[in-house]
Amino acid sequence: METTVLSSKNLIAMLNAVSDRLLEEQEHLNRLDAELGDGDHGTGISKAFSSAVEAIQGLHMPAEILQVAATTLMNRMGGSSGALYGTLFLRAGLAVSDQQTLAPSDFAAMWQAGAIGVQQRGKAERGDKTMLDALLPAVDAMQNKMDYGTLLEAAADAAQNGAQESAKFVAKHGRAKFLGERAVGHIDAGAASTAIMFVAMHNYWKGLEHGKS
Ligand code: ADP
Ligand code: MG
Repeated sequence: METTVLSSKNLIAMLNAVSDRLLEEQEHLNRLDAELGDGDHGTGISKAFSSAVEAIQGLHMPAEILQVAATTLMNRMGGSSGALYGTLFLRAGLAVSDQQTLAPSDFAAMWQAGAIGVQQRGKAERGDKTMLDALLPAVDAMQNKMDYGTLLEAAADAAQNGAQESAKFVAKHGRAKFLGERAVGHIDAGAASTAIMFVAMHNYWKGLEHGKS
């Protein structure tokens, strides 16, 4: 059975991979946000993640990495999603306290704590057509997974399915709320960016595993 843990170095590299993917998907995310909002989500999130990964280079503790990332995301992303992604990482960081490495169960617990923070901050639930439509299924899928390969594959799949499903809903929060039924049929940009994040983390892990063999 796999018992591999995630080191601080791995966590930094994983967030680098997320940032790279978000940059590649910037225009796609802007287009999704343009359908339902103001069209800035891709630019905002990719800029903010670029700054965050710069700020975390060389840090040694997962909690510190997540907290510095959180502060940078809050400062650089702006808008509703800056506060929400910032809260996600801030709560995730608080959940790992002084651990040097993260076991799969720690990783699952940290995103769960982050998702609870997003819910408290934004007062949205699953089905409200927000990033939570991808985040909450990903968090559920990560529970009770013994190794990172299985955990990240499940999280990536669940987040992608959740993002697709967000198209079905009417928005209850954010700018898309004002569109009413006209929002149906469009994927939420925040759900899409959250899915990109988990898929990038899974791909990073697959690359690591591949490199080992
Ligand atoms: P803004 O709406 O300020 O332009 P962004 O475009 O960066 O910010 O982000 C919009 C995304 O934020 C939405 O697609 C949605 O996923 C997310 N969002 C908005 N309000 C909430 C909320 N209350 N709870 C969770 N996510 C939200
Ligand atoms: Mg926007």
